[in-house]
Amino acid sequence: MDFHQSLLSSLNDQSQLRTLIDLIPEFIVLKDGQGCWLVCNKLVMDIYSLELEDYLNRTDLEIARYRPQYTAIFEYNHQTDEQAWAKGSPLLVEKSFVAPDGVHRIWEVMKTPIFDEYGNRHRLVIVSRDVTERKKAEAALLASQEQYRLIAENMSDVITMMTPERRLQYVSPSLESMLGYSPEEFYQQERFSMLHPEDLDRFIASFEKVVAERAAHLKEECRYRHASGHYIWFEMNMTYVARSGEDTDYVLIVSRNIMERKNHEQQLRSLAYMDPLTGVPNRRYLVSQMHQDMQTTIDNGTLLGVLYLDIDRFKEVNDTLGHEAGDELLVQLVKRIAGELGPMDTIARIGGDEFVVILPLITTRSCIEEIANRICWHLQQPWMLQSQPVVTGSSIGVAVYPQDGVEAEELLRYADKALYNAKRCGRGQVRFYKDHR
Ligand code: GH3
Ligand code: MG
Repeated sequence: MDFHQSLLSSLNDQSQLRTLIDLIPEFIVLKDGQGCWLVCNKLVMDIYSLELEDYLNRTDLEIARYRPQYTAIFEYNHQTDEQAWAKGSPLLVEKSFVAPDGVHRIWEVMKTPIFDEYGNRHRLVIVSRDVTERKKAEAALLASQEQYRLIAENMSDVITMMTPERRLQYVSPSLESMLGYSPEEFYQQERFSMLHPEDLDRFIASFEKVVAERAAHLKEECRYRHASGHYIWFEMNMTYVARSGEDTDYVLIVSRNIMERKNHEQQLRSLAYMDPLTGVPNRRYLVSQMHQDMQTTIDNGTLLGVLYLDIDRFKEVNDTLGHEAGDELLVQLVKRIAGELGPMDTIARIGGDEFVVILPLITTRSCIEEIANRICWHLQQPWMLQSQPVVTGSSIGVAVYPQDGVEAEELLRYADKALYNAKRCGRGQVRFYKDHR
């Protein structure tokens, strides 16, 4: 109010006042308690094409009679003057009209009523600022923010904005369809608590790197916990967004669901280690599994049995019932063997009708023999192929770790030799590589 006060104290010196207020790039009008204009600056006079005699001691409604084209503006002035008087303290109003220059303009108007010592209306000081350009810029900004908001809210990627101190500023509503949390629930979560524990350190290290280097586009693949408990793979693109002035910088994280790609990769990986017909591991998987099992056996001071199985006269099944029936037998055979195995045991298909069973953590050779005989017995039982019973047995060769050998390939070779013996001795039986008893 300093300006208003100095304006009033200058009232006694008309020439000083005129110089002063004409220099101010705002629209200034001083009225008496009845609304009659006392003083206005050059900006006001120019915009309404007013001379001193046109406005002096006239109210807005009176001036409007001489400037009928601005009637709406002067009526609005009168109406808002009354609001300021009624309020009894400075009133800020927005005025929006087509100005005399033909441009639609917006003004911010401050109306300050001043009362005399008896509480009567004394003076009304009106200072108006043309804010057309600022309003336009604000509208443009709002429109662009709205556009970005619409994009963010409608894309399936999850957009997150975090301060460099890891405070969450924004998360897009797509979060709900992706992870099952509403944004409100997400805000309440402990920061990063939904990341998979194995991914947490890696993610935080990347986040800190983005902040430290103010980096653009750092990529991480992390798992996020869905509201229903399972994890979903996301590819997260992090970008540091530096801002000027008082606006704080933030890290923009765009997270894309890559579950489909991960599943596909997983499938490819499994295919490389899995027999597609029977669904059990192949030879490549078996050898790496044997290495692990051999270590477990050493750690526990136990034995490991390698059973090498081959179906007897399998060609005949193919020849008499067809290749499809042969395939069906292979599938049924795996199920039958698996039914005899414990959770630590492994069965793998390593050739046409050849399978290997690994029995780790067995304490005695006779235990291995017992399991091998039981499997062999089960495999002699008739099969149902194409609705008819088919009888064909299998032969089994056994090698024992560490007694027969210490290398996986070596053990497989020895078990295969024992299998050859079983075949030679009439099939349908179990033979050990060496009899250590
Ligand atoms: P043996 O008693 O000596 O084991 O004789 P076999 O008839 O079982 O012959 P062998 O084990 O030497 O050969 C296995 C046969 O299995 C050869 C091939 O025709 C057949 N075979 C290999 N892979 C498949 C397959 O995926 N499906 C079917 N149906 N047959 C297969
Ligand atoms: Mg065979």
